Amino acid sequence: MARATDDHPEDRCDRCGGRNMKVWHVDNALWNRIAGDFSILCPICFAELAELSGMLPIWVLRNESDLPGELERLQAIVDKLPKCWRLNDAGKLVEDCPVVIGMEVWVRNKQTIIRKRQVFAITSTSIGDGYHRHWSPDDSYNTEAAARAAGKGSEECNE
Ligand SMILES: [Zn+2]
Repeated sequence: MARATDDHPEDRCDRCGGRNMKVWHVDNALWNRIAGDFSILCPICFAELAELSGMLPIWVLRNESDLPGELERLQAIVDKLPKCWRLNDAGKLVEDCPVVIGMEVWVRNKQTIIRKRQVFAITSTSIGDGYHRHWSPDDSYNTEAAARAAGKGSEECNE
């Protein structure tokens, strides 16, 4: 692994300006819920933002070498989760955001955009049942825009 230098943009936290850890990992779904507009966060700032969003202020710090294959195992779990819609950086609608229980998503019905619908189950069936084209993540992505875009052109709507 390349040694970080002071020039490397990921060395500094966007929120506090302090040093970032060289490499640390959190799963994408959690990152997307917490990070907001920040692209680089140090672990302290990430934990503070998580706490502000209502998460418990208790964390488990582990080294990857203690758990060989752990990242791959977690990634495989995330890969299997149902995905909801978002607009990517190019403004294109993509269905790749993992949905987890407790996550708040945008849900679109025929007339209105309803915010802060919580996910109670994460099976593909529950995501796909009537809502499939209307979900987009409530996080740093263009949520309402994605919900509107996902609803456009959809014939099916059970609400
Ligand atoms: Zn920071």
